[in-house]
Amino acid sequence: MWSGTPPTSAGARSRRWPGCGAGSARAPPELHLENDAKLAALAEYVQVCADHVRDLVFVTGQTGVGVGIVVGGRLVRGTGGYAGEVGHLRLVPSDEPCACGRRGCWETTVGRDALLRYAADPGDPVCDPTIDLGHRLAVLRERARAGDPRTLAALGRIAGQLAPGLALLADILNPRLLVLGGHFGFFGEYLIEPVTRQVHELVMAPDTGGCEIVLSRLGLTGTARGGALLALDAVYQDPTAAMAGTA
Ligand SMILES: [Zn+2]
Repeated sequence: MWSGTPPTSAGARSRRWPGCGAGSARAPPELHLENDAKLAALAEYVQVCADHVRDLVFVTGQTGVGVGIVVGGRLVRGTGGYAGEVGHLRLVPSDEPCACGRRGCWETTVGRDALLRYAADPGDPVCDPTIDLGHRLAVLRERARAGDPRTLAALGRIAGQLAPGLALLADILNPRLLVLGGHFGFFGEYLIEPVTRQVHELVMAPDTGGCEIVLSRLGLTGTARGGALLALDAVYQDPTAAMAGTA
């Protein structure tokens, strides 16, 4: 698993472990490479497909922001594995430097670093990278629940800047679900209503084209679960070959 853009131009692929296989009694396990957003989308899809949902977009909420797209029950990877890199579109006026080397990318306005920057001064413990991230986000959520004006304003700003990107995705892909993960899900009680209202106003289709914005059911474990599903896929496809080490 990796976060952000694929490590090779080939994008998501599977490969054998290096240095293994020749002369061994059992074939080495297959190594799969996949983007974090796509893995989380797979995990989310498994949760909702029983409800006849075939199309969804999973929005990661981390330092980087990307999406995993499932259309007709199939994960969309794109020719080079770059499908879903919406975090680097310029959707909101900004001059913040981005990890991609450019400035003003969407993820610099709605990503986790943006939230922390809006909510606290640099010397605030919630901005201290040496402190566990989960703890820092929990502190921030407690501030929101206590009605701290700056924290609530920061979350309102995130909602306002998240909505244009979600509306764009809804207009282009018309998914049944737009699933908010990562910190978008963690702070969902403060984001879901304003984001839904603004997306409803922005999307061309009436009633947002039937698209519903929901919070991830998987918390912060979606990517790990998607990775496990990918690894198990060979077993589901051909259990006998998987057990024999030939899958
Ligand atoms: Zn960028």
